[in-house]
Amino acid sequence: MYIMGTLLRHGSEAQKARYLPRIASGELRLQAFSVTEAEAGSDTTSIATTARRDGDGYVVDGHKNWTSRIAQSDLLLLLARTAERDERARSAGLSLFLVDLREVRAESIEVTQVRTMFNYATNEVRYRGLRIPAAALIGEEGEGFRYLLDGLNPERILLGAEALGMGRAAIRHAARYAKERIVFDRPIGQNQGIAFPLADSVARLDAAELIVRNAAWRYDRGLPCGREANVAKYLAAEAGFTAADRAMQTLGGMGYATEYHVERYFREARILRLAPVSQEMVLNYVAQHVLDLPRSY
Ligand SMILES: Cc1cc2nc3c(=O)[nH]c(=O)nc-3n(C[C@H](O)[C@H](O)[C@H](O)COP(=O)(O)OP(=O)(O)OC[C@H]3O[C@@H](n4cnc5c(N)ncnc54)[C@H](O)[C@@H]3O)c2cc1C
Repeated sequence: MYIMGTLLRHGSEAQKARYLPRIASGELRLQAFSVTEAEAGSDTTSIATTARRDGDGYVVDGHKNWTSRIAQSDLLLLLARTAERDERARSAGLSLFLVDLREVRAESIEVTQVRTMFNYATNEVRYRGLRIPAAALIGEEGEGFRYLLDGLNPERILLGAEALGMGRAAIRHAARYAKERIVFDRPIGQNQGIAFPLADSVARLDAAELIVRNAAWRYDRGLPCGREANVAKYLAAEAGFTAADRAMQTLGGMGYATEYHVERYFREARILRLAPVSQEMVLNYVAQHVLDLPRSY
């Protein structure tokens, strides 16, 4: 759903009229976002996938290494280069497209599933002469990176909330287990070595939730929220993963047993320290934009 903000804020009236009601009714799915490339990594402005103007449309060629849910989506948001990279204006020359996957030639998109350490539908995607209509362009050509940034804040807020949910679920399982599991003739939760980390995680999750809610509140009101959204994702990812890790410890060996679900929360919470933006890139953002320190990269 977080991809929707880009369409809502920058899509044309025709695009919104065509897609939004059917997305809202559940008839159409927009849940794939094709940005990251192997060579560029966190340096999004150096992506190499191109969209070349050709007659009444564009032709896309390139390779994305992580595009999640493309097989479960009817529409795709795609970032591609429409002009050569300019070192003086690194974010210029990138454009965003809303691709209707039902209308493209199947041979022009090669999707290879990437197996990951958790249950997640993600893929490597090769675009080979993918022809899309000019009407697929979102907003103005060359302004895609700016639109993308607008969509990244709600994504960070939403995934911060996801991290909190996983952390809370893990703690709930752990507390239940700690009450029931008897070792040395007493529930393990009676040991402060078990109880305190869980209680500390409740406090950390509560604190991170306030930050996430504040970021969401600002975003909903159209207020600047880059700082808040980044900090929310950072703190929630730490609180969520730490909670899942502590839940694993509480369950002892059973933490590894799939029937208790905690191993799943542990694996799934871990990704939020890396994606959609890594913790290091959040700290880079805060250092540069909040502390006004020189850009390090
Ligand atoms: C399961 C999964 C699903 C994904 N789904 C999607 C998707 O649907 N669409 C999409 O576009 N992308 C997707 N991604 C990509 C994800 O957003 C990137 O993996 C993430 O942004 C990090 O980029 P990278 O993997 O290229 O890491 P790299 O850029 O190679 O960085 C590697 C490490 O170096 C650190 N680093 C790099 N530069 C600096 C610096 N200047 N200062 C400090 N540290 C630095 C990073 O923080 C990181 O820890 C997905 C990734 C995964 C794992």
